[in-house]
Amino acid sequence: MRTYIKDLEVKKGEVVTINCWIDVRRDQGKLIFLDFRDMTGYVQGVVLPSKTEEGIATMATASKLRSEWVVEITGKVNPRPDKNIQTDKQNGSIELEVLGIVVINEAATPPIDVHTDGREIGEESRLTYRYLDLRRPRLQKNFRVRSAVTMFVRNWLTKEGFIEIETPLLTKFTHDGARGFLVPSRLENGKFYALPQSPQQYKQLLMVSGFEKYFQIARCLRDEDSRGDRQPEFTQLDMEMSFVNREDVMALNEKLLIELVKTITPEKKIQEIPFPRFTYKEAMEKYNSDKPDIRTDKTDPNLLAFCWVTDFPFFEKTDTDGWTFSHNPFSAPKPEHMNMLMNKENVADILTTQYDIVLNGFEAGGGSIRNHNPAALRKVLEIMGYDEAKIHSGFGHMLEALGYGAPSHGGIAWGLDRVMAILQNEPNIREVIAFAKTGEGRELMMESPSEVSKGQLEELGLMVKESKKIK
Ligand code: ASP
Repeated sequence: MRTYIKDLEVKKGEVVTINCWIDVRRDQGKLIFLDFRDMTGYVQGVVLPSKTEEGIATMATASKLRSEWVVEITGKVNPRPDKNIQTDKQNGSIELEVLGIVVINEAATPPIDVHTDGREIGEESRLTYRYLDLRRPRLQKNFRVRSAVTMFVRNWLTKEGFIEIETPLLTKFTHDGARGFLVPSRLENGKFYALPQSPQQYKQLLMVSGFEKYFQIARCLRDEDSRGDRQPEFTQLDMEMSFVNREDVMALNEKLLIELVKTITPEKKIQEIPFPRFTYKEAMEKYNSDKPDIRTDKTDPNLLAFCWVTDFPFFEKTDTDGWTFSHNPFSAPKPEHMNMLMNKENVADILTTQYDIVLNGFEAGGGSIRNHNPAALRKVLEIMGYDEAKIHSGFGHMLEALGYGAPSHGGIAWGLDRVMAILQNEPNIREVIAFAKTGEGRELMMESPSEVSKGQLEELGLMVKESKKIK
């Protein structure tokens, strides 16, 4: 039976079998040292000279082994002599005396070194060979911590009475945010699905359905121009609650963040609890930023400075002198500004219930209390100059749904990749996304986006313009 490397230290004197990779091989002539690696860690092995037939065969196999070969090793767990004990290392008090080797698979020399932290390797190579890149301990740790974070959040929210509900990826284009990806329909040529920029509308509809407390670790897709540290697909921790006000959502999220940090990354220190709050106006006046980095010591990698920013203007001017929403068209205005919205007066002065959670100068999340009254949502759309046809096609379902007894509700979404990158001291979110795309939205390992055959296009009723074809 297989023993995991992490469990070897308590098996001194026993003969065990491990399944693993060869991390490093050091041939010292008479002895061969092998560092073995599995998902649980590392152990040093040694092949000792032996005159038995089996021993000679094992030595012969060991001399062929190279880094990254996959093997099954039978060996005896020997205590190390006192002078060789390394207390700071996993399995530093033992050594595995290799008695038998089965080669499960050989490995070509990896095109990138997987033993370093990888920061010295060009990102194109790392992303092209991502499945190898992910072998490096730094990335292994990033994804194990990420999994611990999502598990913690799931358990925590479930205890609070939330349920996780999946919402569709194939949805409808509605003019509610950034540019969306379109998916052509084969069954109805000329029609398109849109991939969701967030589960915003669905989560509100789930409130209409009476679930009251929803969350989802949700994939969001936005077809935005490449902007440094953005990805066309990213993950949100998305949630929505009924019968809440702004304070309720903020308090719940603040508590969750504090308990998450204490449990999963106890080495981190939160600068100030309760999290400081700034209105948008204060943040701009004091820090000239709506996501201020308020860390008192920017050299400390373990300092987490959270703050809330609230009271954003609801609308901002478009290039053509119209109005658009600054954050989210479904937001409610601050209660004391509801009259201005309903009368479409002093549009520039209307403030939204939007709250953003900022962490070390990055927007880690944002949300708002929504307009549960369909008439108020309609006013927002009218202020933005949407005509009846656009309102009907993009928002008719929401307006209708809100008319069937919608509870008051609000929510938030965290940019989970961003939060993970900061918790892991990573400079960009690609380090916490397993199969990340480049800043230009290309996936180098499988090479997407890619061209498709004429037949596939025909089936979808599509033609690619000659001038747009990639030469
Ligand atoms: N759907 C919003 C977003 O993606 C978040 C929210 O308001 O809950 O930014």
